[in-house]
Amino acid sequence: MSAVRRVGLFGGTFDPPHLGHLIAAEEVRDALELDEVLWIPAGRPPHRPEGPVAPADVRVRLAEAAIQGHDGFRVWDGETRRAGPSWTVDTVRALAEAAPQPTEWTLIIGADQYRAFGEWREPEVVARLARLAVVSREGAGITPGEPRFPFHAVAIPRIDISSSEIRRRRKEGRSIRYLVPEPVRRIVEAEDLYV
Ligand code: ATP
Ligand code: MG
Repeated sequence: MSAVRRVGLFGGTFDPPHLGHLIAAEEVRDALELDEVLWIPAGRPPHRPEGPVAPADVRVRLAEAAIQGHDGFRVWDGETRRAGPSWTVDTVRALAEAAPQPTEWTLIIGADQYRAFGEWREPEVVARLARLAVVSREGAGITPGEPRFPFHAVAIPRIDISSSEIRRRRKEGRSIRYLVPEPVRRIVEAEDLYV
């Protein structure tokens, strides 16, 4: 292992986590040779006035179920235990201050999120503390974007799955098998989530 630890930060509502999330996190981990990727379920996503559907503790359990068996992935539940909106800048600051060894942080975001990055809270600080890795997403290609915020573009197999689509399917009584990892499907079905 190199002296500087390389850690990916993958934030999301994960309501629920799906194969698109897993592919994105794994492709960036591999391409940028990260030692670890922290999956960070948002407590209260600032840009979602309607809020998440499943409670934070359930989304943490779903994220844990999603990454089961992968040594390079870990769930960090710090945002769900903090009061108020989950600003990424607070998260990166908190992690950087608490890091036990020199760490290079990489923030992993989908192309749809990068488009709005300039409107996040203190984006300059986020971009100074962490390098950005942007993954392509169906309907949102990677464009050069804001020159203020340079990023690593990571091309990943396009997979047109979203949590909204999974929730819609549940409402319609349709199958979500193979769109989410099996351990996630088992919890979603056993606990009647999103119906
Ligand atoms: P929702 O439909 O509820 O917004 P989502 O599928 O977009 O859910 P989020 O939790 O909002 O999932 O996303 C977390 C991160 O994962 C974001 O950076 C998002 O761009 C990225 N992401 C989600 N789905 C995909 C996908 N299919 N391919 C690539 N990136 C994705
Ligand atoms: Mg989203």
